Amino acid sequence: MAPLESYAPRVALVTGAGQGIGRAIALRLASEGIDLALNDIPRNAEVLDELAKELREKGRRVVPLIADVSVEEDVKAMVEKTVEELGELNVMIANAGIAHVAPVVETTVEAWERVFAVNVRGTMLCYKYAAAQMIKQGHGGRIIGASSVMGKKGCPMVSAYCSSKFAVRGLTQSLACELAQHNITVNAYAPGVILTAMTNNPRDLDKGEGKHGDSTKSLLGLPPSAPDAEPEVIASIVSYLVKPETYFITGQAISVDGGVYMS
Ligand code: ADP
Repeated sequence: MAPLESYAPRVALVTGAGQGIGRAIALRLASEGIDLALNDIPRNAEVLDELAKELREKGRRVVPLIADVSVEEDVKAMVEKTVEELGELNVMIANAGIAHVAPVVETTVEAWERVFAVNVRGTMLCYKYAAAQMIKQGHGGRIIGASSVMGKKGCPMVSAYCSSKFAVRGLTQSLACELAQHNITVNAYAPGVILTAMTNNPRDLDKGEGKHGDSTKSLLGLPPSAPDAEPEVIASIVSYLVKPETYFITGQAISVDGGVYMS
């Protein structure tokens, strides 16, 4: 099969698209002519609708999908709905995630399991149903997950989050091996300190309070002067990875962190 001829990024599904990195990815892919299925949880239904409206005004076909990525039936239905409404699925961005901040000795099983349910099971389900659809279509594809600098090195106070982001790398590498024969690449981005609600104040995501990025920097043992960036830097690597010319890049967790992992 000739990878450059068989694959084209026409339709993408982005999870956790209502805010932060997911929203930046959706805006960027739409600006490149890709039609979109946009997912988030009920809390973000309104912002998701507004984003969908904005992108439709720019000429894109957009389907908002309220669903919980940790629920298998939800993910299955999301992929089905995407194909029903937009005709196919070429790009899956498994971006949705949550954090939990506590020392290990205070981490409850419930908190641990919720982080793993969303970040690991959710990513696995998105990979699973996207892969099945892409294999069925037979034109290759792109699957991209969300790891983290905390998925590459240990970090105090975020053992569940950190471990879940290591797991995303394991999943990404494993699926990359399985899907190479189908011209489907599987990669992840590994952000450093990106200025979103999550890094604003991971202690209280709902409130999104705190000084931009500072709490994440202190968790990573970095000074306030350490590099940080807007979510568009992640959108930019995603934009590259979905291009047909990147068919030979797979199984990678690409650090986009201003050198934080290296330092
Ligand atoms: P960041 O953009 O830094 O990764 P955010 O917390 O700003 O972090 O964004 C994560 C997104 O994932 C949010 O839009 C959030 O609502 C979404 N999300 C969280 N849990 C789920 C879930 N179970 N299913 C779908 N989306 C989710």
